[in-house]
Amino acid sequence: MEIGEHREYDLYLRDGALARGCGTAVTRWQAEGGVVETAVGPRTIEQAGQFAAALQTLFQAYNRVLWQAFPYCRECGGGCCVVGASDMRLLDGVALALLDEPFPALPAQVTNRPGICIYLVDNRCAWPAAWRPLKCAAFYCLGSGQWELDARDERYGRITRQLAGVLDEYLPEVLRPYAADLRETLPDPITFANVLDTAVDKIFTQALVARFPDLRPAAEQSTDSAADILAQIAALTEQIWQMPGDTTQYLADLEMLEWIALGRPENGAELLMEMDGRYAVTSDNQPMRHLIRAIRSSTSLRS
Ligand code: SF4
Ligand code: SF4
Repeated sequence: MEIGEHREYDLYLRDGALARGCGTAVTRWQAEGGVVETAVGPRTIEQAGQFAAALQTLFQAYNRVLWQAFPYCRECGGGCCVVGASDMRLLDGVALALLDEPFPALPAQVTNRPGICIYLVDNRCAWPAAWRPLKCAAFYCLGSGQWELDARDERYGRITRQLAGVLDEYLPEVLRPYAADLRETLPDPITFANVLDTAVDKIFTQALVARFPDLRPAAEQSTDSAADILAQIAALTEQIWQMPGDTTQYLADLEMLEWIALGRPENGAELLMEMDGRYAVTSDNQPMRHLIRAIRSSTSLRS
């Protein structure tokens, strides 16, 4: 099929815009020099590059555990690379730019099966091996096709003990205050990726955006007003009511989204992260994920 016909093509365009914005910011930082006043002190671009390289080393070690010490991913070979899985974030764009790695250029024609991630080309991920989207780099399961991660399965215990060893050895110093939270979420890699993303956002990427406001491109920002969001929640709820099957969870999540959009719960940011993680592993989730992102970027929940 033509690449433009892939159902994630718009997402690919948005990701590309994000990558270009990050590349421009890093190029400007290189040209202008100076420091970015981060939450952990002033940082030069060289130090930021070292931080990105340290995260890269952490994930190389993390994935060595998953691919060499356990059979699941080797036997499965990438069953998780489906529509909705990639979820490029600001951190991914910044890391690509700091590591001088290219954003994936996709061919005009792809032989992608329906439902497969747009970045999976000829059975290989088109992202640089040096940096895959954070959620992809963190993800693992037991290859059963059941993505419900059940931490009670003792096989997860074996994996997470080894991954905890990776964290002990490779977690960058500035992220050590988050070590306990990260270790606790290891059995649920999507939550782990979200916790890490939020931590890096707090200590570094927010400061980068403050110095280079153009960095977060319009594509990342929601232009939806609160009224738009509430109207979308109402419309989606209406649709869900008419769907066959058990939609209890879906409806409960929509109710929670409305509650968060209205700014009611204090832990709205955490609830959004948790919900985003759940919908990120199913392939038919675009309306929910759009709403989650719209609420995240239209409120101050990221701070
Ligand atoms: S970006 Fe790469 S690793 Fe992530 S889901 Fe797509 S093909 Fe798989
Ligand atoms: S994480 Fe799970 S679905 Fe993905 S490659 Fe490994 S075993 Fe397969």
